[in-house]
Amino acid sequence: MTSHQIRQSFLDFFRSKDHLIVPSAPLVAKNDPTLMFNNSGMAQFKDFFLGNGTPPSRRIADTQKCLRVSGKHNDLEDVGFDTYHHTMFEMLGNWSFGDYFKKEAITWAWELLTEVYKLPKERLYVSVFEGDAKDGVPFDQEAWDLWVPIVGEDRIILGNKKDNFWEMGDTGPCGPCSEIHIDLRPQTDVDTISGKSLVNNDHPQVVEIWNLVFMQFERKADSSLIPLPATHVDTGMGFERLCMAVQAKMSNYDTDVFQNTIQVLEKLSGKTYGSDEPFTDIAMRVISDHIRAVAFAITDGQLPSNVKAGYVIRRILRRAVRYGYSYLGFSEPFFHKLIPVLSEQFKDVFPELTSQEEFVTRVILEEEKSFLRTLESGLKRLDIIMTSLKEKQTNVIAGDEVFELSDTFGFPVDLTALIAREKSFIIDEAGFQDALAAQKARSRQDAAKEATDWIELRESDGVEFLGYDFEETHSHIVKYRKVKTKTGDEYHIVLDRTPFYAEMGGQVGDTGTLHFNVNGESKVVNIIDTKKENDLFVHISKDKNLDEALQNAGIVVAHIDEDRRNKIKANHSATHLMLSSMREVLGTHIGQKGSYLNDELLRFDFSHFSKVTDEELKKIEDRVNEKIRENIPLKVMTNVPIQEAIAMGATATFGEKYGDFVRVIIFDPEFSFELCGGTHIPSTGEIGVFKFISEGSVSAGVRRVEAVTGEKALEIMRQQEETLVQLKELLKGPKDIVKAVENLLEERTLLQKRIEALENEKIQSLKIQLLDKVRSYQSFNLIIEKVNVPSAESLKQLSYELREQVENLIAVFGAEVAGKPQISVFIAENVVQSSGLNAGTIVKDLAKEIRGGGGGQPFFATAGGSDASGLDKALEKAKGLF
Ligand code: ATP
Ligand code: MG
Repeated sequence: MTSHQIRQSFLDFFRSKDHLIVPSAPLVAKNDPTLMFNNSGMAQFKDFFLGNGTPPSRRIADTQKCLRVSGKHNDLEDVGFDTYHHTMFEMLGNWSFGDYFKKEAITWAWELLTEVYKLPKERLYVSVFEGDAKDGVPFDQEAWDLWVPIVGEDRIILGNKKDNFWEMGDTGPCGPCSEIHIDLRPQTDVDTISGKSLVNNDHPQVVEIWNLVFMQFERKADSSLIPLPATHVDTGMGFERLCMAVQAKMSNYDTDVFQNTIQVLEKLSGKTYGSDEPFTDIAMRVISDHIRAVAFAITDGQLPSNVKAGYVIRRILRRAVRYGYSYLGFSEPFFHKLIPVLSEQFKDVFPELTSQEEFVTRVILEEEKSFLRTLESGLKRLDIIMTSLKEKQTNVIAGDEVFELSDTFGFPVDLTALIAREKSFIIDEAGFQDALAAQKARSRQDAAKEATDWIELRESDGVEFLGYDFEETHSHIVKYRKVKTKTGDEYHIVLDRTPFYAEMGGQVGDTGTLHFNVNGESKVVNIIDTKKENDLFVHISKDKNLDEALQNAGIVVAHIDEDRRNKIKANHSATHLMLSSMREVLGTHIGQKGSYLNDELLRFDFSHFSKVTDEELKKIEDRVNEKIRENIPLKVMTNVPIQEAIAMGATATFGEKYGDFVRVIIFDPEFSFELCGGTHIPSTGEIGVFKFISEGSVSAGVRRVEAVTGEKALEIMRQQEETLVQLKELLKGPKDIVKAVENLLEERTLLQKRIEALENEKIQSLKIQLLDKVRSYQSFNLIIEKVNVPSAESLKQLSYELREQVENLIAVFGAEVAGKPQISVFIAENVVQSSGLNAGTIVKDLAKEIRGGGGGQPFFATAGGSDASGLDKALEKAKGLF
């Protein structure tokens, strides 16, 4: 079976068991403060397990793009060195939300593996949770009883809490799991050592392929466990490992999932995979793995950058590039050349890559170029470090230096170690780890957040958001919790109905108040922000001591700051008009790469490869304002099937997760047609006016514009107008202000020339006076004088001109220029040579008298100081020197 058929068979199998097949969620996690990237199939269903929402079906199956490079699951360091852990991989999964449980999950898994994929039964092992007395969780008798008739006791392994008990996080749903492992070794090996003894022992051919999790408990913040009211199934099977098993290969990289990419790498590098050189193989595995992670992350909206998730992606990219550089001989960009094979391979499964192929390629190319430059400057820095160590006769590169190289120069530690080794140096690994740990501790402290359990006040099946139509609702508090953050304590409050929009799709969260009575007294709680946490709307307050009030609150009047919201609405609608206008003016390739809007401005990042010219900006601005004046009424369509919306011309943003039914925002179906959950003004006229305030580059292939609307636009225009008025006043009200400034500049140039001429004249006459004062002394001609010159540079000119007329000259001048003392020392070059005198040393010595410092060449040096009263003393001192 090809990998395509293997994936399809999985989905078909579960469809035949009444499962709804859903698309993969984007790789980049949104609205989940605990996750940067989706790292398992269940991540997109978290809310259903937490009871914050209802799934579209009680049985679901899919293939989910996963990335395990940060947080709880981080496999990065193993990737390439082993043959079965990837950064990005597909997780095939089937779920039961309060529907079937262990019996079906186990029998179907077995049926699929042995009857559809025809995996050899005698090579399969399963594990069952053995129980944990300390935690108060029992042995999973139910799973044991179900597995025994299928595989026999011999093929069952008892697993401990670490391997066989799954938890969503520190708190939340959890339960025992049953894993299925396969032994893919050659028969001769199997005959010598039993596969059972190798399970969970990091053997590359005895690997876990499927994990069946049975959720039946909930972990509370005090770490106690209580049974869940409804039990669930969550399974995850590594697609690439399954392909290795079904295609009977010894490594994931030998399957057709990776072979295409490896072949391109072989062609580009002229090296062969599977040759004797172990690092060639590791490099090819690393690169063919990492390109998937990088490509799909960019596709789903996560560009490489210097912070957070963007930095994780940048590091993966750099890891790949540097393996190519060190072991495959690539000193020019190569990584981006792997995109076409990948795009072709996944065009039917994840078409989002194919449709952004050019964009993804360019982003990677630019990153590669800049990293290759970094590599070079890192190499230079390393050279300097090693040279200075040689002088000190040591060969250990300090941990701090290694850390600086990695932190500032983006220079990977293993590369530093490798180059060091080539030059007979070693790195202080422990010192590096200390520096790294210190930095981690710093950033942990920065991010430190501590939350209590939710305090549940009433039942609720999800929040009703009424903010599209109302500014105020009557609500109840469902639950709340206290959170300690760096900026102070917060209360997080959840209501059953709310007019507060929670930050999403670039639109900021609402602010406002909650009013209610507590024991007959009225209470007001200020809401400073509203955020989404999965599907919960969390109202955030920094008010103090709310516990009692929240627990005893009656009906709550939730009221948003309307004025602020109206400005936000205008900015959101303006963003839509702007995007359509951009597509008209710049082309249809304009894709949204990021958006942020609040009550002050709107910011928009988009894919475009050149600067947007002033001319183009004006055209876009004109078009938006035209649409504002047309006063087009808003049309909202809700619950539109997504396919229908796309067919009608709506554009979906890559990396956003849409449900089966979407909300569509239309301002004239011919003009602006967007999938959007935001809030909008009833007709475009309310935007008032639209004005760009900036345009620039964010990263390769991505531009950013910022714009303002309505009142804010007027305010900015007024400020500019005021500046003009002030300028006019300063210039005494000229008719043409530009001409007036031009005249001023011209005049200034003329004046400058005249000053220079005057100064020159002055120096010439000074020179004539000074010539008289030159005294011959021993074998040279000496002059030491306080002079009156217009600038510090004049001292040099004066010295140089005198040299033309006086042989064997030594000239020491002191001057006060604009209140500051200056000293110059000139010694004719032949005198320098014959006497060994050095102007630089002399000037430094003299500078002490004027409380200053200086330096220069042996024949001419200058010094400046801060104490002009010391000038005479300095010159006196000079006289004693010759
Ligand atoms: P392992 O112990 O092999 O790292 P795991 O216990 O971390 O696996 P789970 O979290 O249970 O794995 O994930 C479910 C399945 O996903 C695994 O059975 C495996 O097939 C697959 N899987 C997990 N991590 C990776 C990875 N880094 N690359 C490829 N497949 C993976
Ligand atoms: Mg793992």
